[in-house]
Parts: sequence; structure tokens; C-alpha cells
Amino acid sequence: MLSLSAISKRFSPTRKEGGTEALRDLSFGVADGEFVSLLGPSGCGKSTALRLIAGLMPPDAGTIAWPNGKPPIGFVFQDATLMPWTDAQSNVRLPLDLQHVPRAEGNARAATALARVGLCGFERAYPRELSGGMKMRVSIARALVTRPRLLLLDEPFAALDEPARAALNDDLLRLWQDAPDQKSLTVIFVTHSVGESAYLSSRVLVMTPRPGRIAADIALPPGPRRRLSPEFLEIERRIAAALPAAAA
Ligand code: ADP
Repeated sequence: MLSLSAISKRFSPTRKEGGTEALRDLSFGVADGEFVSLLGPSGCGKSTALRLIAGLMPPDAGTIAWPNGKPPIGFVFQDATLMPWTDAQSNVRLPLDLQHVPRAEGNARAATALARVGLCGFERAYPRELSGGMKMRVSIARALVTRPRLLLLDEPFAALDEPARAALNDDLLRLWQDAPDQKSLTVIFVTHSVGESAYLSSRVLVMTPRPGRIAADIALPPGPRRRLSPEFLEIERRIAAALPAAAA
């Protein structure tokens, strides 16, 4: 689906001491249908890599290639970033409104997207009436409503309590697995949690501390995974062993 070659990115390069070098020589590819976690310590450049892939900013050097063309992309941020003055349905419909999709069709698609994230019946609820986990579900529905083939998620569950996080992990896996054909939804998921990357991914890319590049590329056996099972603990151990010492 995409390949990054020798990507570098520096912020505020004109500042004294040359600013912050976020990424240096970052290279990896992602195939259709993969669930790839980008795992690394805070500040190693994971979000920067995701933003570059989304095209939200350009790299300083290197290339991002899309052999079959750039697919429709959905982006989920760490905060749900919902409009507080309107309901869940209107929040989810926003990307369609921006594309001038007719209101009735937009509402129908928003309702379908809300149902996919388990929020059937909450179309008229305002963000203030929803829990943190439910707000994040609305945010995911807003990313799904444009029918992306590539879903980019930037530490989406970091602010949630453990039960909500576990529930959303399962929902996200279901969304990925239930995609109409095996290769129709590709996910790149940024996290600093070994456990989360072990539970969700088909492949984990471990990054070095800043400036970030790939320290290890770990393909995982197909799921489903059971937390605390010996197989799962072994996967966690393999990933943790690949984390650079500074991050462990
Ligand atoms: P991560 O997602 O792994 O926590 P980030 O990609 O957010 O890391 O940031 C990598 C480094 O780049 C950090 O040192 C961060 O402070 C810096 N950085 C990120 N975005 C900006 C920006 N817009 N301006 C200046 N520095 C930035």
C-alpha cells in the first residue's frame, strides 16, 4: 500500500542548535490489509511519522510512495476532538458535510458508522452526555464515515481507563477483521504500550528513541489473542526485548 524511504524530519531547523530532529532515515513499507503498530518511547517521532503519511506535512528528505495510488484515509487523534455544541450524528457527519454529501445520505451514513462502533441509539446524544470511551467511539465513527481504506490512529486510547481501553481494543480489532474483504482495511496504530501492540497487531514496528527510525520489525502470528495466555505473554516478551534500552 505504501512505502516510506529514508524519511527525515526536523522541527524549527533555524533555531539555535538546529531545532528538534524528530525522524532520521525512517524506512518501512505497509501491505494492504495489515494491522501495523508503531511502537516507541514518548517523543520518538511516532505522531510525526503518522502525520507525514497522512500528508498533513511534508518530510524534509525521503519519499512516501503509494504504488497503487493514495487511498482514502481516516485519522483518529488522541483526543476525541468532538464539536461540543452538536450531537454525535452531526459530529460524525462533519467530513461528509465538508464534501457536500446531501444531508439525508450523510445522516444515514453517520448512523451506520455509529452502529459499527456500538453506538446505535446515541445519534442524538451530545458529547457532554458521553463517557470518554463513547466519545472516542464517536471519533472513530467520524473517521470511518468516509469509508477509508487506510485508518491512522494516534494513541487513541491512551487517556481511557483500562476496561474502556480493553473494550475499544476489541472493537477496533472487530472493525478491522470484519472489513468486507481481508485486505480492504489497513491500520497503522501509534502506541507506547507493549501490551496494546501485542494484542492488536499483525506486525509491530519498534522505533528507536529520537531521532526515530525502525529498530525492529516483528511479524506476529494471526490472532485472536487471549490476554495472560502463555502465547500472548511470549509475544509481549518478544516485543519488549526489541525495545531499545532507553525505552524499556
Ligand atoms: P511521539 O509521537 O513519538 O511522542 P512526536 O512525533 O509527537 O513523538 O514528536 C517527536 C519530537 O518532535 C518531539 O521531541 C516533539 O517535541 C517534536 N515535535 C513534534 N511536533 C512538533 C512541532 N510541530 N514543532 C516542534 N517540535 C515538534
